[in-house]
This record gives sequence, C-alpha cells and structure tokens, in this order.
Amino acid sequence: MSTALAAELATRIATEGPLPLDAFMAAAVSAYYRREQVFGAGGDFVTAPEVSQVFGELVGLWCAVRWLDDGRPARAVLAECGPGRGTLIADALRATRTVPGFHDAIELHLIETSPTLRKLQAEALQGTPAQWHDDLAGLPGDAPIYLVANEFLDALPVRQFVRRGDAWRERRVGRKGDAFVLVDGPDAAPPPDLLADLPAPIDGDVLEHRPAADAFARDLAARLRAQGGAALIVDYGPARGDYGDSLQAVAKHAYAAPLAEPGSADLTAHLDFGRLASVARAAGVATFGPAHQGHWLLAMGIRERTAQLVVNATPTQAAALLSGTSRLCETPAMGRLFKVLALLPEGAKAPAGF
Ligand code: SAH
Repeated sequence: MSTALAAELATRIATEGPLPLDAFMAAAVSAYYRREQVFGAGGDFVTAPEVSQVFGELVGLWCAVRWLDDGRPARAVLAECGPGRGTLIADALRATRTVPGFHDAIELHLIETSPTLRKLQAEALQGTPAQWHDDLAGLPGDAPIYLVANEFLDALPVRQFVRRGDAWRERRVGRKGDAFVLVDGPDAAPPPDLLADLPAPIDGDVLEHRPAADAFARDLAARLRAQGGAALIVDYGPARGDYGDSLQAVAKHAYAAPLAEPGSADLTAHLDFGRLASVARAAGVATFGPAHQGHWLLAMGIRERTAQLVVNATPTQAAALLSGTSRLCETPAMGRLFKVLALLPEGAKAPAGF
C-alpha cells in the first residue's frame, strides 16, 4: 500500500533532490495523526494511559499536588501536549474532582495539531470546556501552568548526522527505485554542545538532534520562570544521549520500515532526556529525574490506587487493572525504557515521585 503522501514526497525529491530527514518526518507524522484509528488494540500502538486508567489518574494528582504546594493559585492552566484520544486528561480530571478548589481554579488547554484527534479529545472530555492550540505559544501568559506530555516529544522531527571520516554529513531522504532511502547530504555539523559529553566519534557513528525539542524546553522553561507551575514529561529514550539511530516506525503493534510508507505508521525517535533537561536548566528552571516510569509510578502509589479500584471491580476488571499496573511498571519494558522528567521553577524542592 502506498500513501498519497508517499507520492507527494517522491515528486518533491524528484524535483528538489533528497529531503532533510526532519522535513520528511514532520510530513509523515502530521499525515499519520490525521487518521482515525491510531491508538489501542484495534490501532497501531498502545500508550500508558490506554493501558490503565491509573496512569492518567496519578499524573492528574501530581499536577493537583503541585497546585496545592504552590498555595492554590486562584487561576491556573492545566495543559496537555499531544493528548491522543484524550484518555489521560479525562482520567486526570476524574481523579482530581475531589481535590477542593482545583477544578474551580483550572482552565484546560490542549496542544494538538491533528483535527481528527482534537475531535476525539473533545468527546473524551464530555463537555468539560477546553481550548486547543497548535503549540505552547497559544497558552495564556498570566497564570501558573501545570503541563503534562506523554509520548509527545518522540513524535517531533529529528535530524541525523553521520560521521564520514573526519566530517559530519546530514542525512537526507532520497529515492532508490521505488523506495525511500537514507542518503548522505552535504557536510553539516551537529550543535557542538551535543558532542561535548560524548567520546570522539568514529566513522559511521550517527548522532540525532531534535531542534523542536530544544525549542520546546526553552519555551516551557521561560513560561515556568515567568508564570510558575510545573511540567511532567513522560517518554521513551535514554537518560543520557549517545550515538545511534533510533528512528522507528510502528504499525499494527509491530515494527515497520521507518521510511517505507510515510503517514501510515507511527514514526518516532527516542527522546534524549539528558539533552532536554540540560536545555531546560540552561533556560533557568530546575529539573528532577529522569526517573524510570516504574519507579515514579510506584512512588506515586500505583499499587495502593490499583488495590483500591480492585475492591469494587468485577473479576474481569480486576484482572485488567492488575495486569495494566504490572505492564506499566515492569522492567525492562515500559517501566524502564520509559522515563519521567519534571521541570519546576528554580529553587523548588523535589516534587512527588522523585
Ligand atoms: N499522549 C497520548 C498520545 C501520544 S501520540 C497518549 O499517550 O496516548 C502523539 C500525540 O502528539 C498525538 O496526539 C499527535 O497528534 C500529537 N502531535 C504530534 N506532533 C505534534 C506537533 N508537532 N504539535 C502538536 N501535537 C503533535
């Protein structure tokens, strides 16, 4: 099956030459998330909030606890980046209903570019008012921001550099017959600070850089400095960046060839947590973690919350709750590859779970 996007990109390459990998990835991701059936058993992949309601509940409670610790500001922004089907935010809202004053204070803001997913998110919210934005710039500027992002940054486009002899070349996407292939583009150096903590490169090493994640960390840090609040970033990737090509595509719960059918599989690359944290710190906020997702969930009380839910559950529901919890916490799968990083204003003490 070839996609309409594949034809469009092939024409572009035929006229303009090979495309930068980040341009190819941005086009593929944007087309992909316009589709209807992406998440869950009938879709391509399953994310933590789709595994268990407890995930979104604990993330919501983390935000509410930050709000309480900040002295219950009368107005606050609760924001989510890339909310998918809206499952996490719906679970977060349900779990925080009993936190006195929280729902009166919060305004809900969702950052989402896909019109298809915006519609699903509105349905999941069942009438709770929300505003949608394309990026962080749309968030209000006059209230503290409590922001969550689960598997959002891994979808932002990456650049790849490949070492050839003594030089770096930027990878591009070209055509070989009917297939998209990676080719060496012109000489181009990765940002020097990305290399600062790494051993000297050897021939063939690949280095990834995600300028959009750097910009996100800087913008978010500036907001937290100016407005207060906190952010919780959950994703998969290493605590410290290293050489390596982590571009991957997933369709129907299996790995697919990353470039084969742009727009028909979920195309991502690992999030470099070390890089994200250091860019955020340089922009003036404190960072905590990254903690392994399993550790963070256990510290947040996932076992206790699960046990509480099991009391009133049917046997089938109870089995699903228990297996969901162990899937989210188990190592080395979700519990370890997935990590949690918190950003708070400078001087803040360690937040819950860290
Ligand atoms: N957080 C959800 C979904 C993760 S999938 C979950 O855990 O289930 C990635 C989400 O980010 C989707 O909602 C997708 O449409 C959105 N997204 C991807 N790239 C984006 C971009 N550049 N700007 C805004 N949203 C984006």
